[in-house]
Amino acid sequence: RKNDFDVIIVGAGPAGLAAGYVLAKEGINVAIIERGIFPGSKNVMGGIFYRSSLDDLIPDFYKEAPLERHIIEQKVWFLSDDSMFSAGLKSERYNVEPYNCFSVFRAKFDKWFAKKVSDASAMIINETVVRELILKRGKVVGVRTDRPNGDLYCDVVISAEGVNSFLPKSLGLRKKINANNVALGVKEVIELPDKVINDRFGVSNSSEGVTIEITGPYFNEMRAMGFVYTNRNSLSVGIGAVIEDLVRLKMNPNDLLETLKSHPAIKPLVSGGETKEYMAHMIPEGGYYSMPKLYHDGFMVVGDAAMLVNSIHREGANLAIESGKLAAKTYIEARKKGDFSQRALSAYQKRLEESFVLKDLKTYKNLPKLLEEKKYLISKYPKFLIDAMYEIYNVDRVPKSEKIKLILNKAKKEIGYFSIIKDIFSVWRNLR
Ligand code: FAD
Repeated sequence: RKNDFDVIIVGAGPAGLAAGYVLAKEGINVAIIERGIFPGSKNVMGGIFYRSSLDDLIPDFYKEAPLERHIIEQKVWFLSDDSMFSAGLKSERYNVEPYNCFSVFRAKFDKWFAKKVSDASAMIINETVVRELILKRGKVVGVRTDRPNGDLYCDVVISAEGVNSFLPKSLGLRKKINANNVALGVKEVIELPDKVINDRFGVSNSSEGVTIEITGPYFNEMRAMGFVYTNRNSLSVGIGAVIEDLVRLKMNPNDLLETLKSHPAIKPLVSGGETKEYMAHMIPEGGYYSMPKLYHDGFMVVGDAAMLVNSIHREGANLAIESGKLAAKTYIEARKKGDFSQRALSAYQKRLEESFVLKDLKTYKNLPKLLEEKKYLISKYPKFLIDAMYEIYNVDRVPKSEKIKLILNKAKKEIGYFSIIKDIFSVWRNLR
């Protein structure tokens, strides 16, 4: 049967849209199939969007895209039950165009991006679910959708369907997702007047924004990361926790979010606000070793479907865009030779290896395993740090030399000198 399209992309998130944009700009006949009523309608993100990967496709996009605030300060907060230790950077260098990153709402942002992609002449087919791949002698030749007579044929299918990616699974490119490799993220949008947000977060106008990433012993030994991001007239407040930990500690993510909002350092930030939206979504956090095989005859996998998330730096949408671009470039090269076999499409993996995407994921490749084995790293050490800082700031007529002795004794009793040396060595070895 004749092809309906050159390329069919499953999913109109940032990965699928980026691939579609590159292909359409080259005059390739591409369709993007999206199950939502419009791109962005089903998508959840914290959401901080990094500029550079999209700027490379659509220069100066930030001047027209629907963005909330550009971020001028990024902080990490370590919480214990009654305290908060803060680290971070506020810089005027982040306050000049073209900026580093922005807070966004995916429903608005993806819709805008999709319009750019369809203006470039890609066809976006909404409210359509891809049910399975169509194979011919083991090679992918199309997709079966839930529409009547909904089989569509093409040279190459790109799976950009996000974390639940069942198409790569159906080809045997990945195994069942392990509960240690996925987090469940929940998020609330809490409305507040922009002036209140400016005052609470110490910015001088409603286009400047702040991010706070939150971890520490307050969440017990749970691999959880909370966040508070400023939008123009609202805050995005949420938390993502590894599913294995939620099950092990019998925690419900909604309760976890309520616990976060009730902490004495967070409560004043959200107080008086009205919750406008509540969302939940999975985040693939397993890193490099959890990635599926990325290509097959007539098939490539991009974005969250390929587990391309750098959770420690909360980068996902930018990796999705970068991988979408590289898959599209690989198709364009393969088309010149008329060869869409695995051998030809394996160039996609090479392109990813040469880009920051896999270089970064490789840097942190051992981190998920390390945190799985030594969950106390994210609770014991921040707790010790908070207690030590408390002693140092607490002036109670105890001489400083005695305070230092006290802190060292605490370290010996609560963690142990030998364990500290072992942990430092193990973190160093795993991040080399
Ligand atoms: P998605 O955005 O998930 O898009 C996949 C699309 O495919 C969806 O639109 C879906 O409807 C569609 N689809 C799925 N199956 C089918 C099918 N069978 N047929 C048709 N359509 C289908 N990243 C950041 O960069 N910064 C952040 O601050 C950040 N915070 C996050 C906070 C949370 C709580 C979560 C959950 C994620 C966060 N991420 C963040 C990660 C980021 O959202 C993802 O990495 C990014 O959305 C991946 O894009 P994607 O295009 O691969 O997948």
